[in-house]
Amino acid sequence: MAQIIDGKAVSADVKAEVAAEAAKLKEENGLKVGLAVVIVGNDPASRVYVNNKKKACEAVGFQSFEYALDESTTQEQLLDLVNVLNRDNRVNGILVQLPLPKHIDEKAVINAISPDKDVDAFHPVNVGKIMIGEYSFLPCTPAGVMRLIESTGFDITGKQCVVIGRSNIVGKPQAMLLLQKNGTVTICHSKTKNLKEICLSADILVVAIGRAKFITGDMIKEGAVVIDVGMDRDENGKLCGDVDFETAEKAAGWITPVPGGVGPMTIAMLMKNTLTAAKQQAGI
Ligand code: NAP
Repeated sequence: MAQIIDGKAVSADVKAEVAAEAAKLKEENGLKVGLAVVIVGNDPASRVYVNNKKKACEAVGFQSFEYALDESTTQEQLLDLVNVLNRDNRVNGILVQLPLPKHIDEKAVINAISPDKDVDAFHPVNVGKIMIGEYSFLPCTPAGVMRLIESTGFDITGKQCVVIGRSNIVGKPQAMLLLQKNGTVTICHSKTKNLKEICLSADILVVAIGRAKFITGDMIKEGAVVIDVGMDRDENGKLCGDVDFETAEKAAGWITPVPGGVGPMTIAMLMKNTLTAAKQQAGI
C-alpha cells in the first residue's frame, strides 16, 4: 500500500518559509511584497482561484491588488492595465487569470507582462530560460510537483520518469525539470501508442491529462512515485484526479491524493515566485 504524499502539509511548509522571508524583507529592507491578480469576466472556477490567491497573499503577509474587470473589457484596455502594473513599484508579480474571454488573445496578454513580474512563468523569455536551466521563476504547478517528489526523499537521478501530457503549463516544463534533476524522461500524449507499457516502466509517473481516473493500478510499476496533477469530476460530480486512486495506491510506493496533493502546491509556489520577484527587483 502506497504512502500518501500530503500536499497540504508540504504546501504549508513552503508558505511558512515564504512568510518568514517576507517578514524579514519588511523588517530589514522596508519592503512589502505585492501581487496583482487580474480577472476578466465571471467564470466561477476562476473566481474561486483568484479568491484563494488573495487569501494566500494575506496568509504570507503580501499585499494583493485585485483587478476584477467586466467580461466586455477589450484587449486594448487589458493591455493598458498590464502596462500600468508593469510600471507600478508596489507590484512585484502580475498574474492574469486564465482562461480569458474569447475576444482577447491570451498570448498577446502574456507577452505584455514584464518577464521580471511574470510569476506564472508563462512569458516566452521565462519559458526559454527554463529550457537552458537559467530560470528566475519555475512554473508553479511543475515546481510544486518537484517539491512533492523531494518530500518523499526519492532520488530522481538516473530514474525512469514518465510525464503524461505535453501542455505548455504542465507537461512540457515538468519534463524539463525532471531532466534537470537527471531523470531519464519520456513524455506521453494522446498519440502515444503503448501507454500502458511506458507507464509500467516509470519509477516516477506524473500524470497531467485531464481525464478522470484514466491511469489505473495495472499501469503502475510496483513502488513507483505517482503524482496526479489532474483535477477532474467523477461520474457523481465529485472532485478526482487523472489516476484511479483506489487501484493505484495498491501498486505505488508513494501517491498524491486529489484533492490535497498537487492543488495546494500551485498557490504555494506562486507565493514563492512572487517573493523571488520582489527580491530580484530590489537587488537583494
Ligand atoms: P491540457 O492542456 O488539456 O493537456 C492535456 C494533455 O494530456 C495533452 O498533452 C494531451 O495530449 C494529453 N492527453 C489527453 N488524452 C490523453 C490520452 N488518452 N493519453 C495520453 N495523453 C492524453 O491540460 P493541462 O492544462 O496540462 O492540465 C491537465 C490536468 O491537470 C487537468 O485536469 C487540469 O485541470 C489539471 N491541472 C491542475 C493544476 C493544479 O494546480 N493541480 C494545474 C494545472 C492543471 P495531446 O497534446 O496529444 O492533445
